[in-house]
Amino acid sequence: MSDTLVPANPDILDGVDDLMQLSYLNEPSVLYNLNYRYNQDMIYTKAGPVLVAVNPFKEVPLYGNHYIEAYRKRSNDSPHVYAIADTAIREMIRDEVNQSIIISGESGAGKTETAKIAMQYLAALGGGSGIEYEILKTNPILEAFGNAKTLRNDNSSRFGKLIEIYFSETGKISGAQVQTFLLEKSRVVQCAQGERSYHIFYQLCAGASPALKEKLNLKSAHEYKYLGQSNCYSINGIDDAERFHTVKEALDIVHVSKEDQESVFAMLSAVLWLGNVSFTVIDNENHVEPVADESLSTVAKLIGCNINELKLSLSKRNMRVGKDTIVQKLTLPQAIDARDALAKSIYSCLFDWLVEQINKSLAVGKRRTGRSISILDIYGFESFDKNSFEQFCINYANERLQQHFNRHLFKLEQEEYIQDGIDWTRVDFEDNQDCLSLFEKKPLGLLSLLDEESTFPNGTDLTLANKLKQHLLSNSCFRGDREKLFTVVHYAGEVTYETTGFLEKNRDLLHLDSIQLLSSCSCHLPQAFASSMLIQSEKPVVGPLHKAGGADSQRLSVATKFKGQLFQLMQRLGNTTPHFIRCIKPNNVQSPGLYEQGLVLQQLRCCGVLEVVRISRSGFPTRMSHQKFSRRYGFLLVDNVADKDPLSVSVAILHQFNILPEMYQVGYTKLFFRTGQIGVLEDTRNRTL
Ligand code: ADP
Ligand code: MG
Repeated sequence: MSDTLVPANPDILDGVDDLMQLSYLNEPSVLYNLNYRYNQDMIYTKAGPVLVAVNPFKEVPLYGNHYIEAYRKRSNDSPHVYAIADTAIREMIRDEVNQSIIISGESGAGKTETAKIAMQYLAALGGGSGIEYEILKTNPILEAFGNAKTLRNDNSSRFGKLIEIYFSETGKISGAQVQTFLLEKSRVVQCAQGERSYHIFYQLCAGASPALKEKLNLKSAHEYKYLGQSNCYSINGIDDAERFHTVKEALDIVHVSKEDQESVFAMLSAVLWLGNVSFTVIDNENHVEPVADESLSTVAKLIGCNINELKLSLSKRNMRVGKDTIVQKLTLPQAIDARDALAKSIYSCLFDWLVEQINKSLAVGKRRTGRSISILDIYGFESFDKNSFEQFCINYANERLQQHFNRHLFKLEQEEYIQDGIDWTRVDFEDNQDCLSLFEKKPLGLLSLLDEESTFPNGTDLTLANKLKQHLLSNSCFRGDREKLFTVVHYAGEVTYETTGFLEKNRDLLHLDSIQLLSSCSCHLPQAFASSMLIQSEKPVVGPLHKAGGADSQRLSVATKFKGQLFQLMQRLGNTTPHFIRCIKPNNVQSPGLYEQGLVLQQLRCCGVLEVVRISRSGFPTRMSHQKFSRRYGFLLVDNVADKDPLSVSVAILHQFNILPEMYQVGYTKLFFRTGQIGVLEDTRNRTL
C-alpha cells in the first residue's frame, strides 16, 4: 500500500453500499469500507455497476426463500447476487436481450458458490417446468468430476464453465446448455502434496456398493498410485461415500442411464488401474514392456480390449518415416508418458462426454430468442512464484474478459454523458489492446510463435523462449528474462512465465496407437472417446505436428483450441447485457473473520474493481442533480438567490467556491464532478452547520 497520506472520508460514509458514494475514492477508503461491511457480515458491496463479494468462509444468513422473496419484491435493496440475478431477469424480459453474469476472482474467492447462488435465484423465479431442478443438479456432477482439493480451496474447480439458461416468453426456464473450458488433465496423473485428484475417484472408492466394487475390481483409494502420491485422501468435514450417492442421484436426474453410469465408473476404475501398471526392462537397450499383472488385466477388461493390444500400445509406437512405418520400442520414461497420456485422455473424454449427456438432457426448450441468461464461472488472473502454461492461458483469457469489461464500462459512462449533454471527449479510458495484440498478433505474437515452435520436432522450451525474445522484445508489453523466462505486462500486473513444459502441454499429443486401441475396444465409451479424438484431429491444424516423426495424431494445439473457444465465448457475451461480479478472498487460510488488507488490495487491483474506480475517476464520477446540489449547498451562498432556479443556484455555488472549470461539467439534469470536488463543499457545509 502507498504510504502517502490521502484524505479520509467523513464518518457518515462508513460502510456505504456503493463504493462510488465515497467522496474520496482512493484505495485505503475502498479497503476500509469493504472491511467495515465484512465485519458485519455484509459481504456484498457495489462498485458502480460491479458487485463485489467478499468470501465469508462461513454460513451467512443472506440466502433462502425469505431473501429471494424480498429481492423479487424489491423490498430489500442492499447489494446481493440475488439483486444482480433479478436485474438480469428484468432486463431480459424488458429488452428481449440475452443477459450474462460474469463472475471472476482467484481460486477460493467464491466464484462457484456465487454462480450457484445466482442459479438458485433464477430457478426460484423461472421454475415450474421441473427443468430447473435438472439444471441445479448439474452442479454436483460437474463438481465431482471437475473439482479437487487444492492448497487454496478444498473444492477448487479445475475447469472454466459457462451455463446458458433459456427462458420462454413468460419468463419460465425452458432449458440450458453447459460449456466447459480447459480441464486440468494433468491432475489425473499427478498432484502436489496435500492436494487431491478429482473428487469422483475418492467418492467412487468410498461409496461404491460391494457388487459394483467387485464388478469393477475396485480397491480403496490408498491402493492406487495416482491417488497415493500426494498423501491426501480426505477432506475435513466431507463424507466421500455420501457424496457418491448424491452424484448418482444427480446422474439419474439428468437422464444418464444406469448402464451408462456403470460404464462411467468402469472408466474411472480403468484410469486408476492404469496408474498401477508398471514396466519391466526387456532388452539391453532399456526398452520396457508392461508387467502382465492384475493392473494390466483389469484395465483391459474394463475398457474391453485385448490384453496383448494394450500391452503393445504401452510398449511400442508406430512411426511413419516417409512411406514406411517403423516400430519404435519405448524406454521407461516414454512408456510412462504413453500410459499417463492414455489415462489423461480417457478422463478428459469422459468429462466431455458427461457434459454432452447433460446438454442432451437440458436441451428440452433450447432456443436463442433473446431470452437467456448465461453465467460464467471462470478462473481469475493468476500470478504465482512460478507461472507455467496454465497461467499463460488463464491470464490470456482474463485479458480478453478485461477488455470486455472495460468496453462495457466505457459504453455505460459514455451513454450517461451523452444523455446529459456532457462532452465525453474529455474522458480518457485506457485499454488493454496492446497486451491482447502481444498474444494474438499473427505471425509474430505469443500464440503463433508458440504454435510454430510446437510443430518443430527439435523445438525445446529453451528454443521457444529464445524465439519469443528474438521477435517480441520491441513490444512494450513483453520483456525477455534470463534463460526460459519471459515477462508479460498484464493489465493486472507483470507476470513472469517459465517456458518449461509449454511445448509438451501445448501439443498434448496422444499417440495414434492409443486412439486405435480405444477404437478397438468392445465397450461403447472408449469407442466414443476414440471417435471424438479422431474428429478433433481432422480439423484443420495450425501446422503439421511432428512432420518427420509421423504417426501422432494431428490435433489443434491446446492454445489454439482455447483461443477459438475464447473468441466464441466473447462473441456470445458480446450479444448480451453483462453483469459483473468480482469475488474476493479475504485470507489464504479459508477461515472466517480474517480480513487481510494487502491480499484484498491486490485482488481489487487484479479483478478490475480499482479499474472501475480509476475509470470513473478519469471521468466525472460524482453526479448530483441540479435540485439536490442547490438545496444542499445553496445556503452557503453570500448573494441572495431565493428566487433563482436550481441550475442558476448551482452555477453560483460553483463560482463562489472557485471550482475550476476542468473539474466539473454541467449537464441537462445533473452536475458532473471530478473525484474529490464535492469534498471541499461538504467540509464547508459541515463547518457551517
Ligand atoms: P472459487 O470457485 O472461486 O474457487 P468457491 O466458490 O469454491 O471458490 O468457494 C470456496 C469456499 O468458500 C466454498 O467451498 C465455501 O466454503 C466458501 N464460500 C464461498 N462463497 C461463500 C458464501 N457466499 N457463503 C458461505 N461460504 C462461501
Ligand atoms: Mg470454482
